Amino acid sequence: MIDQPYVYQHRELAEPDWRRLPGWADVTPQQWASAQWQRAHCVKNIRQLRLVLGPALDERFCADLERDQAERATMSMLVPPQMINTMVPALSPADPNFTDALYADPVRRYMIPVFTDRRADWPSHPLAARDSLHEAEMWAVEGLTHRYPTKVLAELLPTCPQYCGHCTRMDLVGNPTPVIDKHKFELDRDQRLGAMMDYLRRTPGVRDVVVSGGDVANLPWPRLESFVAGLLDISSVRDIRLATKALMGLPQYWLTDEVRSGMERLATTARQRDVSIAIHTHVNSAQSVTPLVASAAKAMLETGIRDVRNQGVLLRGTNDRADQLLDLCFALLDEAKIMPYYFYMCDMIPNSEHWRLSLAEAQQLQHDIMGYLPGFATPRFICDVPYVGKRWVHQVKRYDRELGISYWTKNYRTGVEADDPLALAREYEYYDPIHLLPETGQSYWRERVRTPVAVGAGS
Ligand code: SF4
Repeated sequence: MIDQPYVYQHRELAEPDWRRLPGWADVTPQQWASAQWQRAHCVKNIRQLRLVLGPALDERFCADLERDQAERATMSMLVPPQMINTMVPALSPADPNFTDALYADPVRRYMIPVFTDRRADWPSHPLAARDSLHEAEMWAVEGLTHRYPTKVLAELLPTCPQYCGHCTRMDLVGNPTPVIDKHKFELDRDQRLGAMMDYLRRTPGVRDVVVSGGDVANLPWPRLESFVAGLLDISSVRDIRLATKALMGLPQYWLTDEVRSGMERLATTARQRDVSIAIHTHVNSAQSVTPLVASAAKAMLETGIRDVRNQGVLLRGTNDRADQLLDLCFALLDEAKIMPYYFYMCDMIPNSEHWRLSLAEAQQLQHDIMGYLPGFATPRFICDVPYVGKRWVHQVKRYDRELGISYWTKNYRTGVEADDPLALAREYEYYDPIHLLPETGQSYWRERVRTPVAVGAGS
């Protein structure tokens, strides 16, 4: 046997036993399998977390969490039982090592961030922004981002069944926090969705619609079904992708009879019209892939949709090692039939520096996972460059590692550049976390913060 940096092992999935958690010691398998029960028992605050994890949870952790919520959190807390149960899956909270294990847990690190997780020196990059991808600037109608020539993103609603600490759409999604107020849609939902549909009918150049939010699992099923059915009636729409992290966070929902039969109706129509419907989910850690998640993904494939794909986010402390990423990809591919597709670099939103990786780290990770997975299931690592769009991490044009600035180009215009003759000639910048830079680079940024220079879309 040749010695390899990563050793593949087939692992059976296992649902962690929720009865180890004092608050759910009496919860039956029927209750656990109910989407309604899961939604009703989401953990929304520290008091509820204490009730679930019991008195053994260290006060140090609770105080750390409380401070984060007051001073740093850009997302409010909302974690379904299914996700809580995958944190520290092998220990009971009574175990003396539980709190330390909770601090180190990959899922906890992004779903329940605490103050000491964050950087004290540079909690935010100076050029971090609330809507860091400028999606709202590119709305063709409210909530419909037309950033690429042939595809659009439809933000149907601003809520999710779970809120992730690193959410890119923190500007819009979720409840306000003490440090972040949220943007509110002006049109009501039906007006907004109607305006999106009108735009797509009169814009035949768009062939691909990402139906997102938030999370489509929070839209009542009949409304989602009628929206997707409306898309299927537009002959120019050929690809429809439904974005739902809840396939992992709340698989019970995707296993309900209402959703399964509704998806079957949509898949049947889609096949008749030669349109592809896929589900895109967001799983960041192998321990999130449980038998229930696998069942939900397979149930969706059985309805006849084209595929279920994963778009994870690279997060320090969660999945910043090649073995963690490969374990995740194999769990998705082997057990849940979910296609590893993308890993995004974490976007430059406020207070995210402790999660973000540098471009060089992402390039190294892409290198390190090559050759283990089948080519068709080898995910691309992606930098979503403001005003440019998704770029494979090795597509960078030039890269100043000392200052942590990478320069990118593009080959199409977004709506905001229709009249900009330089849009395709310009270089657009992306920034590494400052704490990773050599001292000369860090001092450049300290100076730049003291005497800010005008910063545009590109250089
Ligand atoms: S599920 Fe997606 S949209 Fe919702 S909070 Fe998480 S990252 Fe944001």
